[in-house]
Amino acid sequence: MKYLVSACLCGIKCRYDGGDNLIEEILALKESGQALAVCPELLGGLVCPRTPAELVQCGEEYRAYDQNGKNVDCQYRLGAEKTLAAARAFGAEKAILKAKSPSCGVGVIYDGTFSETLRKGNGITAQLLLDSGIQVVDEVAYLSELNEKGNGYA
Ligand code: SF4
Repeated sequence: MKYLVSACLCGIKCRYDGGDNLIEEILALKESGQALAVCPELLGGLVCPRTPAELVQCGEEYRAYDQNGKNVDCQYRLGAEKTLAAARAFGAEKAILKAKSPSCGVGVIYDGTFSETLRKGNGITAQLLLDSGIQVVDEVAYLSELNEKGNGYA
């Protein structure tokens, strides 16, 4: 199977604070050629380091704003579109994305109050991939799948 993975999970220092979220098992997928690593926020034109952003409720919708109140929704949505295009070009059937991120989070993300409070929902990229028929899991779910399979790659 081919995967799209969050670049920060492969040790690429693209996180808002210039750090990464390296998971060796996910880096191994990239190094074997099974996975394409992308950072939607950088693809959307944001820089690293950058001011952290969350999805803030605006009426019935959620829009990406950074902690200084700057609207960065266009960059988030452009990054999601570019990530989907990259996933399709690579032939990825499944994405392994970083938990809780406003771009990559799956099922649970920060709630837009910048208080480390979580709510149910998906990041903008995760939602677009799901809507486009790509399986999406976060790194926690992927590692537990691996453990269940006795450490063979899923
Ligand atoms: Fe990692 Fe995704 Fe955030 Fe980029 S946008 S730093 S890949 S969680």
